[in-house]
Amino acid sequence: ALRLVAQRHEVDQVLAPLRLSRDDLKRVQGLMRREMDLGLGQETNATASVCMLPTYVRNTPDGGEQGKFLALDLGGTNFRVLMVEVGADGIRMASESYVIPTAVTQGTGEALFNHIMECIMDFQLKQDLGDQVLPLGFTFSFPCQQLGLDKAVLLTWTKGFSASGCVGKDVVQLLREAAQRKQHLGLKVVAVVNDTVGTMMSCGYDDPKCEIGLIVGTGTNACYMEEMHNVGTVEGEQGRMCINMEWGAFGDNGCLDDIFTDFDLVVDKKTINPGKQRFEKLISGMYLGEIVRHILLALVDKQLLFRGKPCPKLQTNDIFPTKFLSTIEIDGLGLRKVQAILEDLELQASFEDSMLVREVCQTVSKRAAQLCAAGLAAVVEKMRQNQGLDQLVVTVGVDGTLYKLHPCFSQHVQQTLKDLAPKCIVTFRQSEDGSGKGAALVAAVACRGV
Ligand code: ADP
Repeated sequence: ALRLVAQRHEVDQVLAPLRLSRDDLKRVQGLMRREMDLGLGQETNATASVCMLPTYVRNTPDGGEQGKFLALDLGGTNFRVLMVEVGADGIRMASESYVIPTAVTQGTGEALFNHIMECIMDFQLKQDLGDQVLPLGFTFSFPCQQLGLDKAVLLTWTKGFSASGCVGKDVVQLLREAAQRKQHLGLKVVAVVNDTVGTMMSCGYDDPKCEIGLIVGTGTNACYMEEMHNVGTVEGEQGRMCINMEWGAFGDNGCLDDIFTDFDLVVDKKTINPGKQRFEKLISGMYLGEIVRHILLALVDKQLLFRGKPCPKLQTNDIFPTKFLSTIEIDGLGLRKVQAILEDLELQASFEDSMLVREVCQTVSKRAAQLCAAGLAAVVEKMRQNQGLDQLVVTVGVDGTLYKLHPCFSQHVQQTLKDLAPKCIVTFRQSEDGSGKGAALVAAVACRGV
């Protein structure tokens, strides 16, 4: 029994740095708020880790949008091409998914955009679109310096992309050049849209209170409607503009260093962008499984798991995907299911082992959800103060498989947010196909404007 107590103590020591107190979260909230203010200021923008990018989207939908549009969605797991018909009686969509091989996402920009054009042409053929030139909204979910709705200079790749010759270029121009190479004349790009913005817009079509977009999938990011007079980086004082926060990069300037654990440092070091997207690497689907894997290895190393037996398969990068966390954490799921997952990794798990693996998963996903909530708390509190309200009622449009499929992630986000921002009544609405619908809605609003 004494040995068990000692073991429990050692496990707690390993996991303690991953357990955040309310004070920790309050501090993260405050830091996020500070970074937001720095990012919005013209003089201070360059020093902020959250770059608060203007999107040139000035309104959420009013429900009166109409027309037929093409939409592209690049930046998620798959590349998609969609046709979206916005009508008086709602939105109809048709879409195709296309795999972009890693060799292409990490090859040359020319090859990447050629590939995209080939997919568009394939889609137009399949949909029998003939020579119809439809306005196109391009959901491009990487950080861009937007100079207008249809002009977006790529600042940096994230989420495993690294195609050469694209950073510093206008992605609309890159697409148009690819169209020329393919002698495709009917391309009319009217808007570049971040997926957070698409998500906000698509939820906003059904809910006028939706003024925040949140993604927790492969990566994480958020956007919200800001008052123009607070946006120092764009001319004009009137009205509002949606700001793409690019909050995945929060902490890249070192302000979160005491939150990072040794496990986070190892995971970061092995990515193709070490030192970058540090907040994202604590939260999103591309990384949580890896964090868990490294904790498990450390526990084995300390003889606290699997009786200290070496686990060669567990040494393999990415062998423990984030969807395992969802399966393992499902409430009431027999531990046999956990054992089965571990068996596939050639791990013989005892009852205690399975319990501990579950605890590790819970600790990592809870931390992720709470950090996400701390970020959101900074956003809703800023919006409340902007409007001089005692109480803000607002909706967050959300997308991303981790948020949608994990058994407790969304609950943890909502509970923690309630605690950190008690003056805000926040509703979460899951978007369906926000990237596609949202891009079309931005295009629709844009076309109505001309
Ligand atoms: P994207 O953000 O690229 O558009 P998704 O929203 O589908 O794509 O998110 C993909 C991420 O979700 C992957 O990193 C994957 O690890 C994670 N994921 C997939 N299935 C699950 C699941 N059942 N539970 C939690 N995370 C999952």
